[in-house]
Amino acid sequence: MLKTLKGKISVVYLGLVLLVVIIGTISGINLYYLSKTIDGLMIDNYKSIKAVNLMNEEIDNQNNAILTYIYQDRQAGIKQFNQDSSAFYDWYNVEANNITEKNEGKYVEEIKNAYVDFTTSFSSLQEIPVSDNSSMLYYYKTKIKPNFDHIKDLLNGLAQLNETAMFEKKTNATMDAKNSMYAILIITLIAAIFGFIISMVFTNRFLKPMEYLISSIRKVKEGDLDQIISITTDDELGKLATEFNNMIKRLKQYEESQLGKIMDERNKTLSIVKSISDPLLVLNSDYKIILLNSAAEELFGIEEKNAVNKHFLLSVKDEKLFEEINSIVDSNFVNNKIEQIKYSDKYYDVTISPIENYKSEISDILLVFHNITEFKELDQVKDDFISIISHEFKTPLTSIMMGTSIILEEKIGTINEKQKSTLLAIEEEGEKLTELVNELIELTKIESGKEVYNFKCCSMFGIVENTIKPLYNIASEKGVNLSHSVDEDLPCVYADPEKISWVLNNLITNALKYTDAGDDISISATIDNNMMQISVKDTGVGIPKEYKDKIFDKFFHTKNGDDFEIKGTGLGLAVVKEIVEAHGGKVWCESDLDVGSNFMFTLPICH
Ligand code: ADP
Repeated sequence: MLKTLKGKISVVYLGLVLLVVIIGTISGINLYYLSKTIDGLMIDNYKSIKAVNLMNEEIDNQNNAILTYIYQDRQAGIKQFNQDSSAFYDWYNVEANNITEKNEGKYVEEIKNAYVDFTTSFSSLQEIPVSDNSSMLYYYKTKIKPNFDHIKDLLNGLAQLNETAMFEKKTNATMDAKNSMYAILIITLIAAIFGFIISMVFTNRFLKPMEYLISSIRKVKEGDLDQIISITTDDELGKLATEFNNMIKRLKQYEESQLGKIMDERNKTLSIVKSISDPLLVLNSDYKIILLNSAAEELFGIEEKNAVNKHFLLSVKDEKLFEEINSIVDSNFVNNKIEQIKYSDKYYDVTISPIENYKSEISDILLVFHNITEFKELDQVKDDFISIISHEFKTPLTSIMMGTSIILEEKIGTINEKQKSTLLAIEEEGEKLTELVNELIELTKIESGKEVYNFKCCSMFGIVENTIKPLYNIASEKGVNLSHSVDEDLPCVYADPEKISWVLNNLITNALKYTDAGDDISISATIDNNMMQISVKDTGVGIPKEYKDKIFDKFFHTKNGDDFEIKGTGLGLAVVKEIVEAHGGKVWCESDLDVGSNFMFTLPICH
């Protein structure tokens, strides 16, 4: 029974029930004896006192009957005496059968003897002649009266004896009641203390392993799987502890197997990372390096053991790059590319990507440095080639255009209509070619850094007003609503106004190219983070998503479904990008097909 928790609790409970039963029994016994004592008082002594009192009455009556015999009526006296005698014997018998006290029997015996003498002396009185009254009186006084007084004394003594006994018993009963009360109180107190100790001891004994179990579970919750609970009892708690230990064992095995898998995966990832030829860095959210491959070690001239767990700037020491990474992280990885940074004669594009943890929160940052030196060199060869070709094209193209113009003006002879229309076609294509050559020369000039910028503080309102004016007519001819909301009070920008006007002109001209009658083109400017952001927004055809990153490349044209038509040289946005970046700004585009495009660029504000 004591093997189970239920059994143990039952034993304690039974023990307490037993205590209550013991107290109840003791109280019952005490009350029983108390009632017995009170019964004794009533039955024993009170009965005797009552019998003695009645005997006293009868003996008084008999004494009166003798006096009646002497002085008045003899017959009546005798009759009365005999009647009272039988009543006296009745009460005498009651008393004789109720002897409860010491000496009570002696009294009863003496009363009996005295009473026999009393009745005998009355018989003797009746033998005295009726006429001799004085002898009768003398006999009464000397013989009967002393006997009568003796009986009375004996009866009073007997009554006294019983009364004394009765008082003694009453005192004893009171004492018993008090003692019982104290005894019950003491037993109750002992039982209460005992019960309290039992419950405390057992509660503690039962709860201690429980508390131990709880603290072990808490430690396991905190990740300490080395917890073994040493509860060896055979009860439910012991079984619970055994099950808990089994569970921990399973959990540990599971953790070890999972850990093994994670380690395998980690090693695989590490091998992949290390084998990547592009330099690669992983930073945590505090910008501390947590992983890098040997290409990155080589690029930044650092060693893994010295760089890991140190801040990016302590190892890579490139504040500009750090600022750019920081702003990409702050912008939630929108436009996550840093283009063409140069490290020891090599060019890199850096891709910055977030690494999410299992809660889909960004925990780390991955930096991959793509070596674009070869492309850059090829680009340079191409640019040089284009530059040479375009310069080589320009002189003969000018001669061709001039010649065509002279022939068309018929300065060297008349031409017929057919010749004229052919020459007009040549002139139109020649103009396109001139535009292309001019833009190419402009672009190569800007790219080679030969372009001279005339930076100054100038009003964006003025630039916009001047640029937009000649374009209102073209817009209204097309039925396009062209407007601007640039505030005159905006701070000045630090820029070359001619170049920025060229940028704006190009963006608005593009917008006009890709909008139809009823569409809107709006120009606006806002201040953000010490930079002015200028926007040229249209409600035209828009740009398919896949081309959004490419439109700033040279010679790039989008293909808008069936309506594919090359409307320009594909160089305008490339020149825009070069000019804006030369100002320390950025240019980008947000666009939705059939909704419209928003071209935005930033310029520094004058201080
Ligand atoms: P182009 O001289 O051909 O216009 P750009 O470099 O200015 O060359 O533009 C590149 C390409 O970007 C264009 O061919 C066109 O497809 C797309 N584009 C530029 N601006 C817009 C615009 N506002 N709406 C739609 N497409 C545009």
